[in-house]
Amino acid sequence: MPQPASKLPLGADLRALAIAGVAGQSLSAGRRPLIRGVADDRVQALLAAAGFDGTFVAEASAPAATPGDDEFADLLALLREELALPDESGNCLCHAIATAAMGENHLWQDMGLPDRGALSELVRANFPGLAARNIGDMKWKKFFYRQLCERAGVPICKAPHCAECCDRALCFGPEEG
Ligand code: SF4
Repeated sequence: MPQPASKLPLGADLRALAIAGVAGQSLSAGRRPLIRGVADDRVQALLAAAGFDGTFVAEASAPAATPGDDEFADLLALLREELALPDESGNCLCHAIATAAMGENHLWQDMGLPDRGALSELVRANFPGLAARNIGDMKWKKFFYRQLCERAGVPICKAPHCAECCDRALCFGPEEG
């Protein structure tokens, strides 16, 4: 029986920490593949290379996820465009964030990160262009969705400017547990 990444090695790279966090959340919830669009054995290999010694893969590698009817593919495309270093772990990180963003909780929670600050640091380090555009420190999941709507030319916001919007607390409020 594989175990979730409950004990993360000290000094682990934040990118690997995030991938491990999403994989651990999926493992706990019994979801496969652990990260949508990435075979479980690749996740395992990336984490092993980053110094994680837990076992995530119970049997053979899982098939890549098939496209769903949610925003996963659009968000993945946005993240991949904005990724500063497009190597395999960066690509896996994009899949991991898009996977977690389909969850119900705050994004940092569904990524298994310790707090929102860690998620902000992760985005700044790996998606600097996106981070620079989030000038008001909007909640990250809200911000990503707003980016998708802007790209598609779909107005979802109730006001042209956040300062005048009745949903401001929803988009910018605190994100504690
Ligand atoms: S505060 Fe209002 S205008 Fe700003 S992103 Fe949220 S919904 Fe849109």
